[in-house]
Amino acid sequence: MRYKTHIVSSLTLGVGLSIIFNYPFHFAYVIGISFGSLLPDIDEPKSYIGRRSFGIAKYVNDKYGHRGITHSLFAWVFISLIYVIYPSPLSLGISLGYLFHLLGDLFSIRSIPFLAPFSTHYFKLPFTYRTGSITEDILLYIFIFLLLYFVFILGELHIYLIQSTVESIVSFIRILIELFHFLLD
Ligand SMILES: [Zn+2]
Repeated sequence: MRYKTHIVSSLTLGVGLSIIFNYPFHFAYVIGISFGSLLPDIDEPKSYIGRRSFGIAKYVNDKYGHRGITHSLFAWVFISLIYVIYPSPLSLGISLGYLFHLLGDLFSIRSIPFLAPFSTHYFKLPFTYRTGSITEDILLYIFIFLLLYFVFILGELHIYLIQSTVESIVSFIRILIELFHFLLD
């Protein structure tokens, strides 16, 4: 899956969970899912996140290769510890986004070593798509449609999203002002 499809499909699933469990569709939750949905590809220097990783991707790739340990349930549990230690919309988003990325890649033809490092088996599912193919394009458009439908119509999540975004920006500016005062005093 390309990075756009990862972000959009993960957000769509995240929105679905938000509606089902009545979980607030917070700005930080959206940022967390988007970031988490890119994170497993930190093992590929040419990936969207890899090109912005200040060399971390090259290090991980040299050590584990692409679609290795970062694409496993083990890595997901490890990342989810952040949520266990610091529960917040952001850390929950990161954990979910990571999991949805793994699901997305699991359905690709190449698949992922879901049980690494305990097993190197690449699980093949009956319904697959090829990364960068027309099928992936179609999936992307379906996810975009569902995402917009969930956010604006079915769950009307945009209202709380806009509100929490404004609140986050205001508190960020407030922190900056306080920091300024602190430095000038
Ligand atoms: Zn991946």
